[in-house]
Amino acid sequence: MGPEYYAINLLEDLKIRSFPINPFEITKTLGIPVVESNTKNYEGFLLKDTQNARIIISNQITNKGRKNFTLAHELGHHYIPTHDKKTYQCSPNPFSSKGIIEREADIFASELLLPEILLKPMLHMYKADFESIIELSEDCDTSLTATAIKFTKHSDDCCALIATSNNTIDWFGKSSSFPYWIDHGAQISAGTLTASYSLKGVFQEPESQEIHASYWVNGKGIDNSSTLFESCVPMPDYGVVLTMLWFPDPPFDSSVYGDEDEEYRYETDKNTWRWRNPEE
Ligand SMILES: [Zn+2]
Repeated sequence: MGPEYYAINLLEDLKIRSFPINPFEITKTLGIPVVESNTKNYEGFLLKDTQNARIIISNQITNKGRKNFTLAHELGHHYIPTHDKKTYQCSPNPFSSKGIIEREADIFASELLLPEILLKPMLHMYKADFESIIELSEDCDTSLTATAIKFTKHSDDCCALIATSNNTIDWFGKSSSFPYWIDHGAQISAGTLTASYSLKGVFQEPESQEIHASYWVNGKGIDNSSTLFESCVPMPDYGVVLTMLWFPDPPFDSSVYGDEDEEYRYETDKNTWRWRNPEE
């Protein structure tokens, strides 16, 4: 069973069927004590003991969405049966490389707080730019990164999510109708909004621009007149810029590429979070 299975089961057991999903309420219902501690050594700590499980969350986390994610991540270690260590000490960072166990706890957390079954039917109310995705993250009390990843994965829009640091692509994920790939490790073009944000390195309000599609992608359907939209938000705590790309009117027949039944999985052989078609 994948980590999502255990998250969905827990939501079903607790009859949780609406946003926002509050992991502090969940631990309360489950009788798992959660204390906040003034520590910089970790963000979340789980003592995994069926009788006396307990969780410590660092009070250094100021962002509510990130705090919720950290607690949900610890619940992941608690509920995933193969996570059989006695203690887990974690600093979930979506942009750093990590082993399979930490990734599974992240996937559990993401599905617990943003379950596909509740999220997908409401995504049409939000657009692929960061103004809108920030709104979605506020409506769900979730971290911006987790929200953007889930939006991209389940959106009907033709969109892609990219994280860059030092003008280099760290990871890439896309909706099923976005037909292009952007390679991990590739350099981004000067002239993109992302490149100008990378230089500043401080938090700024998100901005969007229309740009020649060839700055980002090449291939079938792209010519000199093709454009796409680019929206950026810098994440200075992590030293990365998050970028959404989308085609409001795809210059191609996306039904040729999109496949509702396409199954995506997180790639495990590289330090990335991108999901891809297992056939590739
Ligand atoms: Zn962990």
